[in-house]
Amino acid sequence: MNFVARALNLSISAAERLRERNILKRAFVKHDFFPDIVEAVRLDRKFGFYEEGTVVIKTRTDEFVVRGFPKIKRALTLKPTLKRHFGNRMIAVEEKMNGYNVRIIRAGDSIYAITRRGLICPYTTEKARLEIPLDFFDEYPEFMLCCEAIGRASPYVQSYTYDIPGLEFYLFDIRNRRTNEPIGVEEREEIADRYEIKMVDILLKTNPEKVEDIKTVIEELNSRGREGVVFKDIEMKIDPMKYTTSLSNCYDLNYAFRFFAEYARDFMISRIVREAFQSFEFQNGKREFEERCFRLGKSILKPLIESIQDVKMGKKIVEASELYFYNREVLELFKMHLKLLGVDFRMKVIDEDDEKIKVLLERVMRSTTDRIRKILNGNPWR
Ligand code: ATP
Ligand code: MG
Repeated sequence: MNFVARALNLSISAAERLRERNILKRAFVKHDFFPDIVEAVRLDRKFGFYEEGTVVIKTRTDEFVVRGFPKIKRALTLKPTLKRHFGNRMIAVEEKMNGYNVRIIRAGDSIYAITRRGLICPYTTEKARLEIPLDFFDEYPEFMLCCEAIGRASPYVQSYTYDIPGLEFYLFDIRNRRTNEPIGVEEREEIADRYEIKMVDILLKTNPEKVEDIKTVIEELNSRGREGVVFKDIEMKIDPMKYTTSLSNCYDLNYAFRFFAEYARDFMISRIVREAFQSFEFQNGKREFEERCFRLGKSILKPLIESIQDVKMGKKIVEASELYFYNREVLELFKMHLKLLGVDFRMKVIDEDDEKIKVLLERVMRSTTDRIRKILNGNPWR
């Protein structure tokens, strides 16, 4: 407890309160694969100015905080929102890639990958150690690399649009892990280049008033099946803002309705409202409007019906992904990690050679399965 108080700069009693209110949770499963870490806890909710997902780590020689990745506000309209938010500062229009958020740090002698809610993930760490150059942290020991983890072998967010068979990391921010202060866009480009770290595409650097140019970029992204953009002040003095394509709204809806009982209503409603504002602002013709209606409707009904059919055939509703491990111990550790996360899952080895173990992971969506089964058995909605 003392190390948490020290690292977060709190009194011992304030740190105790954190524990009592159940905001402080375990951040990892202790294991030889995490040799440098003696203890690690995370904030499961925002506390003071510490973001949700903030982690406190104790190594053999050190104790420090890794701040949670801050929420990014969403623009529902481009005009006048961008101008209002950024004034006349230059902005970078960056691709927003759809995977899961990872903060990569060094603790002791090794690299660690932390997911959004503040868990040190063994699966992601195993891949990050192979992909991220350790010497970056010799130059910048206090920095964290904020990356989107993308690819078909993703245990958390499936993304098929990128044609990446494994799991790759795309850098979108470099921040001081203690203060959460980001470095400027151009400095980040320089570092990514020098250390050969993959970075998200910067599609345009422009003035917030050039809405037509920005719309063109977004329409082009949408036609390539991409998620959206994040607008960033080149100097990173002002908070970024995000904006998503119609395709991504529909993709989210598709997902949420396939597992409708596991998802909050709010998740669905917000996607529909976004779609409405985009349709309003982009003012496309009658045919585009009809297409949008069709796309939206289909992304709701189709997955629902698929789920009903699955249950009717006696199957459970699952979300499946194919993962790979280089080390059997990491595979066992990852199972413990999923239990810590409270995930209901099944796993089986599907292939194994000298290099890799391939595994099928299925997350069981119990609420949706049960709900549909009851309805099919003749029970009313409530
Ligand atoms: P938020 O991060 O705003 O709290 P959220 O968790 O619902 O919301 P998203 O709506 O997916 O997340 O959008 C933000 C996330 O987008 C970031 O946390 C990050 O993981 C991801 N991302 C992908 N590309 C970028 C990028 N170029 N710049 C910033 N974030 C990006
Ligand atoms: Mg996302």
